[in-house]
Amino acid sequence: MGILRSMKILLASNNGHKREEFSRTLAPHTITLPGELGITFDFEEDKETFTENALGKALALAAIAPAGYMVLADDSGLCVDALGGGPGVRTARYGQQASGSLLDTGERNQLLLKNLSHLSKREERRAHFVCALALVVAPHRIYTVCESVDGFIALEASGSGGFGYDPIFIVEEVGAPMATLPEGEKDRYSHRGVASRRLITLLKEFE
Ligand code: IMP
Repeated sequence: MGILRSMKILLASNNGHKREEFSRTLAPHTITLPGELGITFDFEEDKETFTENALGKALALAAIAPAGYMVLADDSGLCVDALGGGPGVRTARYGQQASGSLLDTGERNQLLLKNLSHLSKREERRAHFVCALALVVAPHRIYTVCESVDGFIALEASGSGGFGYDPIFIVEEVGAPMATLPEGEKDRYSHRGVASRRLITLLKEFE
């Protein structure tokens, strides 16, 4: 199949930040978003696990993808110990139920900080970021991986790198918020970076 040479990967996402990260972590493969091929793609992530959501998303896009593309889907989320592992698979919709509308990134981060404001000790603010990937290489050749990175929710937002919850997620191994790391450094530690490397290893084993 020649997985190790440069392959065309269609990413089941409209998130340009994810595209940038995968372009680095999965190089030399090229990453394309559905919109760039004129495909409108939206998928309701309504399952209870990251892997099921990623797999559902990948299969839905694979069903309409042009020939010659592998399809990759990523479902990620933040699991906070003090919130019983939430918001988890509902991370993108955090706060929506209470406010009645989808919050923007800054609002979600502020809401999470507010909801943990009664917890001041680092250990009480433990969390992990999860990334599930599903790659459809061919109809009967599908791989999934799910990885995570441990950390803590910061007391306040800082840094301008990355996206989403990066300003408030302190990577345990580094001791600094993800958004303060240069982009390449984020890949070294992030849930998406770890999952990407795992996927590459898996593909090499089956090459
Ligand atoms: P989804 O995987 O696109 O559904 O993303 C779930 C939620 O997690 C969204 O609110 C994203 O902004 C957030 N998220 C996903 N990956 C990251 C990341 O690498 N850093 C910070 N936030 C992220």
